[in-house]
Amino acid sequence: MIRQKKLAAGSNSSVVVERCQVCDSADLESIIFIGYLPPVNTMPTIGSRPAEQPAYPAEVLRCKQCQLVQIGLIVDPAILFPPTYPYTSGTTKILRENFAELAEEVSQLYSLKSDDLVVDVGSNDGTLLSNFQRTCRVYGIEPTNAGKLALERGINTEISFFNRAAVKELRYRLKANAKIITATNVFAHIEDVHENRRLYFGIFAGGRNIHL
Ligand SMILES: [Zn+2]
Repeated sequence: MIRQKKLAAGSNSSVVVERCQVCDSADLESIIFIGYLPPVNTMPTIGSRPAEQPAYPAEVLRCKQCQLVQIGLIVDPAILFPPTYPYTSGTTKILRENFAELAEEVSQLYSLKSDDLVVDVGSNDGTLLSNFQRTCRVYGIEPTNAGKLALERGINTEISFFNRAAVKELRYRLKANAKIITATNVFAHIEDVHENRRLYFGIFAGGRNIHL
């Protein structure tokens, strides 16, 4: 049983990891501390006037019980992934190719029909979903303005973090469960993996009866 813990999400701050994020053990050891780092993509431009800058301790911990290696501080995702988060997956050629291959592989494993639904969590600019768009229904959930680029490409996208409200919105708008759920480089950023797993089942075909 995982105890109720203080969450960084919505705090506009951060939470020190006291217990393993997977097995809840308090038996964590520090492997390395590399100092204080600013949130990703917030390095000031060379030549700009010095101003106050947030920075967070980057410590790596190992759980002695389940061996999970994890970062020792969870920063509110609203700080790490603000609407202005600049990265778009479509700008990386190898990622575009990788997503196309993934879609191809999924299509071979599961024969997708036009009314099937593919949901991408952390869908960014819709690059992954664009590979499914001609075959079936698609739906992206993306917290940053990259989601607006997806909308401009005609990819059904909800601008939101993946949370209970987003799952309820998906169910309300689509009245359908997902046949396929994709999440690329998402778990590494998830604060509460157990709650997240529950949310995935909440939108997965067969998971409709899960109460959220
Ligand atoms: Zn553990």
